[in-house]
Parts: sequence; C-alpha cells; structure tokens
Amino acid sequence: MLVVQEDPEVVEADLAAGRVACPGCGGRLARWGFGSERQLRSLSGVRRLRPRRAICSTCGTTHILEPAWTVPRLRDTAEVVGAAWQAKVAGAGHRQIAADLDRPASTVRRWLRRLAVRAEALRAVATGWLHQLDPTAGPLDPTGSPLADALEAIGRATAAASRRLGPRASWSTAVALTGGLVASAPPRRAGVKGGRQAIP
Ligand SMILES: [Zn+2]
Repeated sequence: MLVVQEDPEVVEADLAAGRVACPGCGGRLARWGFGSERQLRSLSGVRRLRPRRAICSTCGTTHILEPAWTVPRLRDTAEVVGAAWQAKVAGAGHRQIAADLDRPASTVRRWLRRLAVRAEALRAVATGWLHQLDPTAGPLDPTGSPLADALEAIGRATAAASRRLGPRASWSTAVALTGGLVASAPPRRAGVKGGRQAIP
C-alpha cells in the first residue's frame, strides 16, 4: 500500500510517465486495474473510493494506491481524525468529540489512543519536514503535552508545504508527510522519481 497524492489525474499522469516508484525495489509502477470500491465517512458525508492498483515492472508486486485524504485501514477520512485530534487538544473528552462528530465513542477513543502512542514519532517526522520545507522555520517550543506538540508540528509542516508548493488540503498533506497518520503499520510513502513531487 502506498499513500499518493489526492488528485487522481495527477496520479494517473505520474503512473503513465513512470514517475511512481515501487516501495519494495524502486522499480517503475504501472497501472494494473483497481482495488475494490469502499465507502469512507468524511465530515460532509459518504465518499466513495475505488483505489488504483499498480504493478511493479521490475519485481511484479502489486500495490494499492491510497489517496492521501484517506487514512490507511480507517473508514473515516483524514479530516475527521484531524478534527477529533484538534478537539482533544482544545480540551474536549472523547465522548464529547464523538457526539460532535456523530461517531461511536469507542472509535474516537481508539483514534486518540493511537495518536497518543504515535505522538512523539509524528512530532519528529513533522518537524523534520518543517525544516526541510522551510529552512528558516524557528524551533517548536514543547508545551508538556505530546499530543499538542505533535499537532503544532503537523500544522506548521503542512502550512510550510502550502507556502512552498502551493495551497493543499492540510490533513491530506499530514497523511502524506507522516506516512498514514495513525495507520497501525505506517505504509511507505510513494516515492516519486525526481524528488519533491512525492509531497502531495
Ligand atoms: Zn518492485
């Protein structure tokens, strides 16, 4: 599984031009049908996704290309998980957040626990991207809350990506920069030959 840009036309063009690299061997990925359709819950309703499948011309492995607005293995989109995270940092409890988002409390609690476990790793990855995208960025001052620090780092990294590369959806960018946000096993980010285009 690879996290790719959210614009399907860009992904198709990258595949056609041989610009998407196999995460296993670095070979060139080519179009290979589609994965099965599934429904995802966004903040504004259900969104359908039929993800592109691609095959490596070198090792023959097939990969599902997951657009960055999804979070691998979750039924809710990245913006929903992001909204829960922001509400938690603002002081809300998981039951209140679940009620506000119209999601089961157990689901929201699971996201927040995963975020708490991964907070330091997410902060470190996002801070690395921030300084790569904006070498003039100042240091991030720790607040004592790993969840808040990670959220701050991701907010600043995604803002830096928009300044440097043009406006883009912040939570999709967060998924791409962190390789899946709260995915239980972080997927490899799609390597696009030639560097920078790997950032959605
Ligand atoms: Zn390969």
